[in-house]
Amino acid sequence: MTDRNQILFDRAKTVIPGGVNSPVRAFRAVGGTPRFITRAEGPWFWDAEGRRYIDYIGSWGPMILGHGHPEVVEAVQAAVRDGFSFGAPTEREIELAETIIRLLPSLEMVRLVSSGTEAGMSAIRLARGATGRPKIIKFEGCYHGHADALLVKAGSGLATFGHPTSAGVPPEVVQHTLVLEYNNVAQLEAAFAEHGPQIAALMIEPIAGNMNFVRASVPFMRRCRELCTQHGALLVFDEVMTGFRVALGGAQSLYARLIPGFEPDMTVMGKVIGGGMPLAAFGGKRAVMEQLAPLGPVYQAGTLSGNPVATACGLATLRVIQRPGFFEQLAARTRALAEGLKAEADRAGVPFSVDSEGGMFGFFLLPELPQNYAQVMASDAQRFNRFFHGMLERGVYFAPALYEAGFVSAAHGEAEIEATIEAARAVLPTLA
Ligand code: PLP
Repeated sequence: MTDRNQILFDRAKTVIPGGVNSPVRAFRAVGGTPRFITRAEGPWFWDAEGRRYIDYIGSWGPMILGHGHPEVVEAVQAAVRDGFSFGAPTEREIELAETIIRLLPSLEMVRLVSSGTEAGMSAIRLARGATGRPKIIKFEGCYHGHADALLVKAGSGLATFGHPTSAGVPPEVVQHTLVLEYNNVAQLEAAFAEHGPQIAALMIEPIAGNMNFVRASVPFMRRCRELCTQHGALLVFDEVMTGFRVALGGAQSLYARLIPGFEPDMTVMGKVIGGGMPLAAFGGKRAVMEQLAPLGPVYQAGTLSGNPVATACGLATLRVIQRPGFFEQLAARTRALAEGLKAEADRAGVPFSVDSEGGMFGFFLLPELPQNYAQVMASDAQRFNRFFHGMLERGVYFAPALYEAGFVSAAHGEAEIEATIEAARAVLPTLA
């Protein structure tokens, strides 16, 4: 009898392009049939065949408490009873904004939106509006959502103005997007030397989760900060993935520990702050944020922005992650997973490197951790795909692409970590 996931996939493909509503779900990179999920609980989800998986994607980041945390479920149910959406302000929006600002001291004001794409796009518009400058810097391998101006990757080698990565984006739309190599200080300095007075913003994933897990080096980040300050450009941290995930204060709190006085000018957030509901935000200093409508000339709006059910979900999630010891325990679990996988790979003689921070991790079938997109993409994709499917068959659901990060939740206990390492013990020797 045909697998029920396959039946659903075939049916989906007739009415939804590629059968999915976001491309990576289609398993195009790894091949095979995507699993259609029927329900989830704690660290697990179940597919249409009733098979259970340990979930290491956590909805691509938001589910830091695991699935169906009772306090979050209760908060959402209560919110739903009071109404789904009003299109008028609520006290909960203030509470969420206050919470975010308290946890990220670089922010003085914040605006809530519904997706990371919207937040990134709005932050760029605001940066351009506030500085009166057209150009933005982004880095190859960093994803900031699919707004036209940000859908660009670099040409090889030298810094170039980007060419659109997607059809449907006219070259004129990205003519002001300068794409540089991640962790390349020389390119960064050259770009500012040439275009400094025209650069509105430098946008960066401080730990790039869209090339699996690549940290911005401290000297590189220090230079980003210095050059932005020197040239009057805004340093925009895209913490959609890392915010409230790698540490309570986001990746910016980690760099602040390593670079005295460090802070970004603006921050883009999503994922964890919605706890699995559509909610994202962008924020920064008051003088910049007050350039937004209705106060200032930069327009930005949203029918469902600050949605009362999503804000209830986000607030309940943020309440739990602020409890003493939360991040210490999450980081220890994630580290145990990373170290366990590494030990098994070493035993099997498979080149393997791994890194983690808080509840986010990345592993590479490479002997050394990569520093930029080209190095990530030099991984052996075939070998990764065999690893992915071997683990999936054993009930472990890692990200179905070698350039995506992994996520551990507070619901992943020692038993799940041990079961994952045991599965890797069986799969890794088949790759050597
Ligand atoms: N920025 C980063 C760093 C992301 O990882 C993502 C999504 O994965 C986005 C922005 C876009 O967020 P969304 O998918 O909510 O539009």
